[in-house]
This record gives sequence, C-alpha cells and structure tokens, in this order.
Amino acid sequence: MTFALEVDGVDKSFGGATILRGVAFAVEPGSTTAIVGPSGCGKTTLLRLIAGFEKPDAGTIALAGRVVAGGGWAPAHRRSVGYVAQDGALFPHTTVGANVGFGLPRRARTPARIAELLEMVSLDPSYAARRPDQLSGGQQQRVALARALAREPELMLLDEPFSALDAGLRANTRRIVADVLAKAAITTILVTHDQPEALSFADRVAVMSAGRLAQIGTPREIYSTPVDVPTAEFIGDAVVLSAHVDGDRARCTLGDVAVAANGVHGNARVMVRPEQIEVTTDGAGVSGTVVDVEYLGSEMLLGIRLDTGYGEVPERVTVRRFGATALTPGDRVGIRVLGKAVAYDL
Ligand code: ATP
Repeated sequence: MTFALEVDGVDKSFGGATILRGVAFAVEPGSTTAIVGPSGCGKTTLLRLIAGFEKPDAGTIALAGRVVAGGGWAPAHRRSVGYVAQDGALFPHTTVGANVGFGLPRRARTPARIAELLEMVSLDPSYAARRPDQLSGGQQQRVALARALAREPELMLLDEPFSALDAGLRANTRRIVADVLAKAAITTILVTHDQPEALSFADRVAVMSAGRLAQIGTPREIYSTPVDVPTAEFIGDAVVLSAHVDGDRARCTLGDVAVAANGVHGNARVMVRPEQIEVTTDGAGVSGTVVDVEYLGSEMLLGIRLDTGYGEVPERVTVRRFGATALTPGDRVGIRVLGKAVAYDL
C-alpha cells in the first residue's frame, strides 16, 4: 500500500534550537490522525513542514509515494494539501464567496461551485455575500475549511481549528467537519490540545513530547497502554503507584493487581485509570476511608485514603464513579482494580 503521508527521520531547528528530532510516522489514505502534545513540543512546526511552508534540516517527507521534501522539493502550491490554521486566517476585506473562490482554479470560480462548497460545510449559500466579520467564529472556521476543500486536497491539515470556539459550538463544528472530511475520504491530520477531541476524532493518535514522537497508535492503545508515564498523564487521568512486578502480577498500594506483561520486572511503577478502580462497600479489596466527594454532574470523584501503603506511599487515590453515590466523607470502603495495570521501569 502507498501511504498518504510518510515522514521519515525529520529534524528541524530554528536558530540553533532543535524543535523536531527524528520524527517518523506513516499515515494511511483516508484516515484521520490527531497530533497531541504539550505547548511548544513542535506540532505546528511538523504541520508546516508537511504543508511545505518550511524545509526539514534532515529526513524526508513523501505524499502519496512522491518525495516532496529531503531528496526532492515541492513547494506548498505543488502539494495536494489543504491547511486550516487556528484562527482560520480568512481574508478580512473581501466576501466569504471570494475567500472560498480563492481556493478554486479560475475557470471553476463560479457562484454555483462556491455555493456547493458552502453547503458542504453546512453554511447557507447566501453567506457568500457577507464579510468574514459578519460571521460567528464557528462559521468562519467552516469558511476556512470550505476554502481549503476547494483545492480538492488529498491531505487536509487542521491546526487547532476548533480551539477558539466555545464548548457547544466546538462539538457541533467538529461533527460537521469530521463528516465532510469522511464523506470526501480526505486523509486528515489534526493538531489539538484537547485530549477527548483527539480520542474521539481520530483513527490514530500521535503523542509528541519535546520534538519527538513519543507514541502513535489507536486511541484505545494510547489510552490503555501508554508508552511511558508522561504520555499516560498527558492523555487522561492516571493513577501512578510504586509497585513490585513479578510476571503478570504487581503488588502495590491497591493490592495484588494484574499487569499487561511487557517485560518490566521488580521494583517499578504501575498505572491505572481512575475508572478501573472499583469501590466496594462489602469489605472486598484494600480498605480505606472516603475523605472527599466531588460532584461533577454525570460523574463523581471520590478521594479515598488507604489504610496501608506500599513503598513511597501515595496513600490517597482518586476514583471516578459514574452517576450518583450515597458515599460521604468518613465512610469505610474497599477498593480494587479491574482489568490490567500497565507497568513501567523506574
Ligand atoms: P502550541 O501547542 O503552543 O501551538 P506547538 O507544539 O505547535 O505549540 P510549535 O508552534 O511547533 O509548537 O513551536 C515549537 C517551538 O518552535 C517553539 O519554541 C517556537 O517558538 C519555535 N518556533 C516555531 N517556529 C519558529 C520560527 N519560524 N522561528 C523560530 N522559532 C520557531
């Protein structure tokens, strides 16, 4: 199979500061990949290299089997790539229609084609006559997407396109955009700060850390078997405990727990997700006392102090419970781990 995108051994520095180091991954045609990572880790730089706005110092980038950077060079306008920036970056002094038309070859720049593109992103064609500042933030983002779609790119790069939108609009805009891209079978790469967005939007999630690709995998792989503790903590809530691992079992504050066998042995750390921790009121499991209850609407967070510890004792754990609970501070409970923990070397 020819990959839609292959990034291999890409390095990039600016003014002596290394921004990307040995970044390598491949993307299947028609798939959606979310790139996540802390601020400044190089996500936007990577997208700009793929788009052709910057050149890598080392390594290669190939689009649909054609090398476009490193051992060959195709500038941005010679790549079949759409790019939507965080703020949409519409041309402010012209109409929505002209903005969308900018993405079209001159002979295809017709009102009918512009209307069709606006409809694709669920905007009424009458918006073509408006100026960008007469649209809401979510509508502007959709115009930016329509402009990028006009070029009929094989690859769409979205750089935090929803981050300026409030929660409701964000979910709605995201759904519309995901739908449009899926229907057109356009390979998509999305940079986002929002972990739930990455997990729900993408087929694969790439986690970056300080210019390197820490892990790439399906949302389930990334969430359930993160490669290291920083990745585990970046992609969701994580309970990390000192432990002693022997084969597929570990002893830790939460008792004797099952671990996914990954070669880690002896003194180590284990990670479980809060929803893997079950609270019992029949005495089963490791005993402890509820110390606080945080109500979050659809779920509750229970802080539990354990009676005994293990190693450097994180004696308090936070447990997630869906729905209501009658538990209150001072109640005695048992806790136990469901499923498997993940072990890491110290
Ligand atoms: P954020 O999530 O905050 O957008 P990011 O992961 O997208 O961050 P980048 O925008 O890729 O990170 O920036 C990574 C680093 O590269 C930053 O320290 C930034 O200042 C630096 N950088 C990016 N572009 C340039 C440039 N053209 N010249 C010099 N430094 C740059």
